[in-house]
Amino acid sequence: MSLAFTPSPNIALLRESVTIAVSQRAKALKAEGKTIIDLGAGEPDFDTPAFICEAAKAAIDSGQTRYTPTEGILPLRAAIADRAREGGGCAVDLVAQEVVVSNGSKQSLFNACFCLFGPGDEVLIPTPAWTSYYEMVQLARAVPVVVMGDPDHDLKVTAEMLAAAATPRTRGLMLNSPCNPTGAVYSADELREILLLAQSRGWWVISDEIYRRISYEEPAPSALHVASARDNLVVVDGVAKAYAMTGWRVGWTIAPRALSQAMTAFQSHATFHTASMAQHGALAAVTRAAESDAAIAAMVAQYRTRRDAGLAVFAGTPDLPLVHASGAFYFYFDVSAAFPGHAEPGSAFASRLLEEQGVAVVPGAAFKTPNWVRISYAAPERDVVAGVQHAIALWSDLKR
Ligand code: GLU
Repeated sequence: MSLAFTPSPNIALLRESVTIAVSQRAKALKAEGKTIIDLGAGEPDFDTPAFICEAAKAAIDSGQTRYTPTEGILPLRAAIADRAREGGGCAVDLVAQEVVVSNGSKQSLFNACFCLFGPGDEVLIPTPAWTSYYEMVQLARAVPVVVMGDPDHDLKVTAEMLAAAATPRTRGLMLNSPCNPTGAVYSADELREILLLAQSRGWWVISDEIYRRISYEEPAPSALHVASARDNLVVVDGVAKAYAMTGWRVGWTIAPRALSQAMTAFQSHATFHTASMAQHGALAAVTRAAESDAAIAAMVAQYRTRRDAGLAVFAGTPDLPLVHASGAFYFYFDVSAAFPGHAEPGSAFASRLLEEQGVAVVPGAAFKTPNWVRISYAAPERDVVAGVQHAIALWSDLKR
């Protein structure tokens, strides 16, 4: 008897990740021999620093190839807590038992959403936001509530905007600064106001800080160092972006003990733990601070050069709405003037750019803002410049 697949209610609303789909399509086209400028993937194009790779190899050679604790090896969790404590604020009394290491910050975010939210809960998502936030909240059977950012303020939200979107069912809030997809950075004051509101309303805050080390104008503040208390706070971070370690899959949460224990129990039935040798690589990344800080500074300097080169091209079209790119490695711009009346101008623009010019970018529909388009400048400078030139030429041509 053949059995037709009928999806369970758990995945009734599930859609595949568009950011991953775009980067895989670009890779497939390249494999077919097409010349593709890939500005889709939000993935550093640098190699992982050599001392980190060496540490992982040494871990394999010394037999670190067995199960580790579910929540990650203690030295890594202790080192993560140590580094967070250096920033002061409400991190000063942080301990390793409040850190859970997972298979990338994506699993950390998923653990937090699944353990905190459930049916009937509403979760505020400042929008645009990374495509997976909406899906993760839905997989927890809670309701993602889009809170649209202010286009006159780099598509950021304020505490007032969040308060206006809240209902008695609001249970939490997802923050992300520097922001994927916009590159906007929240100042300490902006963050403080939002955290105070969440404290006063009893909302959980999940603060995704995976891009925090990639900031060009001033250091991006951590919620841990700005909040007045952390009993309602989950900070998510990892090694993927800043340390160029996307494939290693090491992320973590910093959260109150009871929640950390629940996330550990949950993870014990899902992935158990991330690879032992990857944890040892991450341990070198986090503990050998002088070497990693130098490596990160060198990569950020290159992102800055690419950003400036891209911005110099954008400067020729001052009427094209563009978020001020102050962190992460993304340009975010509104192409709706090129497709008047179209339901998804960003998607139409992205497919024409790929088919006609071979430039892969991510349509803003993935981030619940269909008028916009994301360009990643985690790519060689010549590709960034060529890609932005093609994008602007197409936009100028279409909107004539
Ligand atoms: N976070 C990156 C992006 O937005 C990598 C892909 C993904 O997991 O979404 O492109």
